[in-house]
Amino acid sequence: MMTLIIAKLNRLPIKWKLVLWSSLLLFLLFAVYNLAQYWVINEWMKKQELVSMQKNMVELQDYFQEKRLALEPGNVTNTQKFLDNFNQSNQVIRILDAAGTPIITAADHLDSEWVSPKSVEHMETLNIWHLEEHLLVMRSPLVTPDFKGTLEIFNNLETFEQLSKLTLWVMLIGGAAAVLLSGLGGLVLARKLLQPVQMLAETIKNVKQKGMHERVRKVGNEDELSNLASLFNELMDQLEASFRQQKQFVEDASHELKTPISIIEGHLRLLNRWGKQEPMIVDESLTASLQEVERLKGIVQELLQLTRSEVSIPESDLEIFHMYEVIAGIVKSFSVLHPDFEFRTELEEIKSISIQMLPFHLEQTMLILLDNAVNYSLEPRNILLIGTQRGNGVQLQVIDQGIGIPESDLPHVFDRFYRVDKSRNREQGGTGLGLSIAKRIVESYGGEISISSKENQGTTVAIWFPTA
Ligand code: ADP
Repeated sequence: MMTLIIAKLNRLPIKWKLVLWSSLLLFLLFAVYNLAQYWVINEWMKKQELVSMQKNMVELQDYFQEKRLALEPGNVTNTQKFLDNFNQSNQVIRILDAAGTPIITAADHLDSEWVSPKSVEHMETLNIWHLEEHLLVMRSPLVTPDFKGTLEIFNNLETFEQLSKLTLWVMLIGGAAAVLLSGLGGLVLARKLLQPVQMLAETIKNVKQKGMHERVRKVGNEDELSNLASLFNELMDQLEASFRQQKQFVEDASHELKTPISIIEGHLRLLNRWGKQEPMIVDESLTASLQEVERLKGIVQELLQLTRSEVSIPESDLEIFHMYEVIAGIVKSFSVLHPDFEFRTELEEIKSISIQMLPFHLEQTMLILLDNAVNYSLEPRNILLIGTQRGNGVQLQVIDQGIGIPESDLPHVFDRFYRVDKSRNREQGGTGLGLSIAKRIVESYGGEISISSKENQGTTVAIWFPTA
């Protein structure tokens, strides 16, 4: 049974859990506090009642000690008058003789019959119930040189009981109202608090049904939960952008692959139809097809490189090495490969500086930049490499005096498949992927890449890596 209730409670929505817990806690708090308060008030009032009775008792004892003859049978009427005056409402004062028979009784709004007379040797205090009435009884021996008997005072605690009951009711009603209010407060608070979460859940549902462009509506305040909603929105922005990029990438890649494939297809058809009769065509078509296959191979290879450069490299695979040595090696190979070019280097400043990366990645980046410099230079065929220290890193500039890039194309040259002059560039074997691969590699090491160019004057590409 208990486990069933707990399981049910656990399944409640957070809103109701909050309400339930806040009400329960407040109820417990109120119950404990009120009980304690009720008990303290009760005890205090009882004590006050007792003290007042004791005072009466002492005063009367003093009176009878002083007025020794007050209890003589001849003086009873006077004493009766005195006691009637002395007495308070809801109280009986009774004097018993030695045999325990009442000789004087003063009663005010209280029936003296409710408590039967009794002689005592010592003072006593009792609580007595007569039907519904609660009576406090105090008895004390009354001894003067001329008299021996008992003095009884008893008191109806009716007013006290009424007050006590009233207090209890006030507390009960107050408690119930407080619990109700706290429940309501909890409900309002829960609604307010959970609004962003609810909106988040709704948006996620919408994303599932309608697509990635759904966002959480802005909730005004800047608390943790609204921040969660903003974070979700940012995440969705990023995801959407990356989705769009992926789609664009696939479209671009298929477009790039389509051209060489169509060309090869054309040549194959030609061969199929005329090839048997005309050996000239065979030769021409095969050469052209092979060229296109080479191109296809190039594109596929670069695509692979591009995806590889996106994978993060484990720290343990990185090497610390002198940038200078790698650059010098590559420049040497390039001079052999392109004897018609003049390569100059100014690398003294970075000779002793180390960087941390895969040496293969630096080589790849350098190959891309030098390839471009060679491919897009006519005359003069000069290429300059300058290494400098900049901030807490090294900068390498590859400077050519080639055809340059028009200003309107400059912002796009790092985009995948972007080529400035498509027809001419195709002849040079460009795929438009080089610079975007270089950018990805450089940025994956926390570096920077930038390009500046003037048409017909030359281009400078600068890369910067943080030092190890
Ligand atoms: P590609 O494989 O076509 O060279 P890149 O991404 O390396 O692709 O370069 C993009 C385009 O930027 C090139 O098509 C070319 O038009 C232009 N470009 C890059 N480097 C240079 C340079 N050094 N001089 C002139 N144009 C350049």
